[in-house]
Amino acid sequence: MERFVCPLCGWETEPNPGLSPCPSCGVSLRWERTDLPRGPAFSGRGVWRYRELLPAVEPVSLGEGGTPLVPAPNPWGLDLWWKLEFLNPTGSFKDRGAAVMVAALRAFGAKILADDSSGNAGAALAAYAARAGLRAKLFVPAYASGAKLRQIEAYGAELVRVLGTRSAATHAVRNACTAEPQLTYASHNASPYFVAGLQTLAFEIAEDLGWRVPDHLVVPVGGGGLFLGLAYGFMTLLRLGWVKKVPRIHVVQAEACAPVVLALRQGAVRPVSVEAGETVAEGVRIPAPERGQEILRVAHEVGSVGVTVSDAEILGAQQDLARAGLYVEPTAAVAPAGLAKLVQAGVIPSGESVVLPLTGFGLKAG
Ligand SMILES: [Zn+2]
Repeated sequence: MERFVCPLCGWETEPNPGLSPCPSCGVSLRWERTDLPRGPAFSGRGVWRYRELLPAVEPVSLGEGGTPLVPAPNPWGLDLWWKLEFLNPTGSFKDRGAAVMVAALRAFGAKILADDSSGNAGAALAAYAARAGLRAKLFVPAYASGAKLRQIEAYGAELVRVLGTRSAATHAVRNACTAEPQLTYASHNASPYFVAGLQTLAFEIAEDLGWRVPDHLVVPVGGGGLFLGLAYGFMTLLRLGWVKKVPRIHVVQAEACAPVVLALRQGAVRPVSVEAGETVAEGVRIPAPERGQEILRVAHEVGSVGVTVSDAEILGAQQDLARAGLYVEPTAAVAPAGLAKLVQAGVIPSGESVVLPLTGFGLKAG
């Protein structure tokens, strides 16, 4: 059985293609499956290998997931691993969420999927809609440009350019989905199915390590999907008894826009209200994350420590990765830049194991 659950109060409802929030808390819901398998009995590779832990729908797949977990040289004596998420079909980890969300929305009869993203989520939605035989309509700020926008257009998605700020694009997509019944709002931030798909990253890391979990993960946080997907994925495995613990998952944000890290430092239950400054890490430049309260609640459960990094530190980490043979976009270098600070602060001691997902491919920047 599957259900949508409020991450704050536990209110639950039937799964549906809509995005209605919890009637009391007003927050986006999360997806949960209650009929979990007794033991690992998986077949195939990639995201759909874990079908028994995902929504029961006909898969949509471009071969997402199954990314390499590579030992990483480091000066701190850590058992450090890179998870090469930029090797997903559209070049980012978002493919895990998009594959599952598009499959679920198609099963509900959706025909045209709409979202507000000019970045990796938009590219992933456009690609998976194309694969599923559905249309995609992406609402983007009129000022957006660059490689990711060209990627979205190349997949055949329709672009709707919206004048004004980033949030104007969100208002526009909501209004359009209310006015036009054939449009389904496939929000990568609000859809419970998107986070459901991101859980597969946790399943894969655990299986790659022989059903052991690392002591720590370090992740960039923008909308928080990656962070939540990992946490829920490991919590599911713990509930099944396949792993012995949930790793600590640390949060890294850009100095210019750090609503979650500031809230962690203050012990606040909501993200701190910030004005988003400029940063090279565009993927984490999200001043008011839709799932902010949920992120902070989960962060408390998984022992998260938050650190911020400057653009100089991000670009330095990006260059270090490139010199080690891995070409990632600046947003993907946010967590590697934060790792050094977590080690210096004594949060991650020598000898412990750490997994760093490298989220997006270097050719996507620019
Ligand atoms: Zn609630």
